[in-house]
This record gives sequence, structure tokens and C-alpha cells, in this order.
Amino acid sequence: MKRTRAQVIADDKRYTMQTYGRQNIVFDKAEGRTVYDMDGRAYLDLASGIGVTSLGHGDTGWLEAVMEQVKKFTHCSNYYYSEAVSGLARKLCEQTSFERVFFANSGCEANECAIKIARKYAHDTYGPGRHEIITLKNSFHGRSITTLSATGQTQFHHSFFPFTEGFKYAPANDTAALTEIVSDATCAIMIECIQGEGGVIPMEKDYVRSVAKLCEERGLLLIVDEVQTGIGRTGKLLAFEHYDIRPDIVTLAKGLGGGLPIGACLCNKKLADVLQPGDHGTTFGGNPVSCAAAQYVLDTVGSDDFLAAVRAKGARFKAGLAALPKVCDLRQMGLMIGFRVDGMASAEVVQRAREEGVLAITASQLVRLLPPLTITDEEIDRAIQCLAACME
Ligand SMILES: *Cc1c(COP(=O)(O)O)cnc(C)c1O
Repeated sequence: MKRTRAQVIADDKRYTMQTYGRQNIVFDKAEGRTVYDMDGRAYLDLASGIGVTSLGHGDTGWLEAVMEQVKKFTHCSNYYYSEAVSGLARKLCEQTSFERVFFANSGCEANECAIKIARKYAHDTYGPGRHEIITLKNSFHGRSITTLSATGQTQFHHSFFPFTEGFKYAPANDTAALTEIVSDATCAIMIECIQGEGGVIPMEKDYVRSVAKLCEERGLLLIVDEVQTGIGRTGKLLAFEHYDIRPDIVTLAKGLGGGLPIGACLCNKKLADVLQPGDHGTTFGGNPVSCAAAQYVLDTVGSDDFLAAVRAKGARFKAGLAALPKVCDLRQMGLMIGFRVDGMASAEVVQRAREEGVLAITASQLVRLLPPLTITDEEIDRAIQCLAACME
């Protein structure tokens, strides 16, 4: 018998580890940019499951690509080749001009791979002792012990010591401070172009360029974590394209599979052979169904017209929000949007928005919107109206 809404929530509270502050809504089905709860109530999705369902829910072409692969086979392990996996690798490398990719299951795992490549490259090239990676304060790189170590936010650190050694944190948008921290022990600098979880904080153009220059001068690898910003989210296929730089390593995850779990670590030619047979691996990584889904996402999002539309929709969203008198600290790049509401905590805005039929999320003290990249102008206008109502 079907469980009631109250039972679903009670089961979750009783039987899952209570690691999440879940919103009080039970997902039942979804279509396009609309999510329905168990009572049949509709919500406009401005969160995409944290930037994951980039084409919205149930996109016809995406479903076909996934179902076709599901019917063929769903898993074969990395002992064998498959068209879904090698085809995605080719498309990703061709469209991003990177040399090679390693497929993982999540953002955290993609970053683990990046960290391993950086350390092994430094070890192979310079010998032991050059293993330090500098990340930024307020960054977010994942929840494993090593990617937590890489994450420059102490509130995530407190109860999990001891951590993986060899990470140092520099304040964001401060070239002088970063330069001071670099030493002979440094092998790489890892940044997000826009700090997502940290509060939708875009890095300044000059800063990102000077980070790239510093890496070049000091022989450091530049790792850009595009787990949240990548695959069209900011109106370019990869966010670093806004900054005219070329990182050595880029990591992807969230939006790549359009709703199925996949992570990717891309590297340039210099690093293509750093990881040798036996150096790294995963059972589930590069799952053929996720890869088939990602191929479809990439075919769709990778076109110039699609990306231009994302930029136009982002501008429309920004203009609509900027016109609301209580909105402040508004930041927007493509469809990655953050803002504050004067006199209201971000969690309160998110709760009120839900009551008005809109799903939003928070990022630190900000309200964060990561709508599906396929959102329509009409839906954007409706979203602005709902958000306006929840601020009254
Ligand atoms: C979400 C996120 C991660 C972690 O990804 P998971 O798939 O949750 O492991 C890493 N880096 C950035 C920038 C993220 O936004």
C-alpha cells in the first residue's frame, strides 16, 4: 500500500542518518521545470536538485538516450570498453579542448582525482616534498576527508580530525596573500571561478588571471573546480572561459549527467599520462547509463545558440530580481544566481518561496537559484512574481 506523506517523512526521520535539513516536501513526480508533491501541489523548480537536472525533468531526448542504454546494459565495469563511455570522453575532450578525462561518480571524486594527479605529477617531476595544494577560504570541494581538507571553510572541519595533510588556504580575490603562501612545497592551486556553496561569490577577472600567471611563473598546476559552474550553468560551457585562462585540470559533476550521477576530471596534454594503470580507479565511475545521459546533455548544452539563450535568460532573471526593492547583494552569471532579501534570513526566504510554489535553495547567507537551463521566459517571469510575493 502506498505510504502517506506523513509516513514517508516519518520513515526518513527514523531510518536515515539525519545529515540533511530537508525541506518539508515529498517529491512525487516532475515534468519540465515543474515538480509535484504527494498532494499534487505544483512547484516551479529553481534549484534543479542543486544544479543537477540541467535540462529540467523528463526531457524527451534525454529520456530516450537513457532508456536506450538501460535496455542495452546498465553496467559492465571498467574492465571492458563501451561506446557510451568512450563516446562521452571524445565529446567532452573535443568540446573543451582538454586531452583526457577520468570518469567518477560525483564532484568530490572528480576532485580527489585532480588532487592525485597534481601530487603524482609533482612527485614524478620534482621528487618528494612538493605536495601542497593551495585552495581558497570559503571554497567548497566535497565531503570526503581529503576534499574536506581542501575545503576552506572551518565549520565543516570541526569534528573530523585528523585530516589529509598538505592543504593551505588563501583569502579569495587577494593575489598578494596568495603569492605569499606559495612555497617550494606547493604543487597546485585549486579554485572555483564562482564559489557556489560559499555564497555565490564570483572571482574577479584580474584575480583569476593573476592566479593563472602565478601558476605559470612558479610551475604550479591550476585546477579549476567546475563541479557547480560547468556545463553551461554560467552561460559558457565552462565558467573559466569568462576569464580567458586555460587551467591544467578541470573537474565536473553536478549538471553533467542531467540527473544521473557522474563526475569527470579533465586534464591537458602535459598531464595526460600522469595516472598509469593501477594508479586510480572506481567500480561505478563512468557508468554507461550516466555517460549516455551526459552525451545527450553535452550535445544539447554545447551549442552556441543554447549557451546564448542561457546568458539571455540569466540577464532577464537578474533584471527581474533587481527591480524588487528588498533584493540586495545580487550576483548573477548565466543561470547561477545569488541574492539577499533585506530583513529576511535566506532560509526564511526559501521557506516562504516554497509556500508560494517556488523551489529555491540557500548558499551560506544567500538565497541561491540554479534553475534548469531550459527554463522559459514565461517561467522566469512567474518565478519573479512568486519571489516578489514571498518578500512582502
Ligand atoms: C557540489 C560541489 C562539490 C561536491 O560534489 P558532490 O557531487 O556533492 O561530491 C565539489 N565542488 C563544488 C564546487 C561543488 O559545488
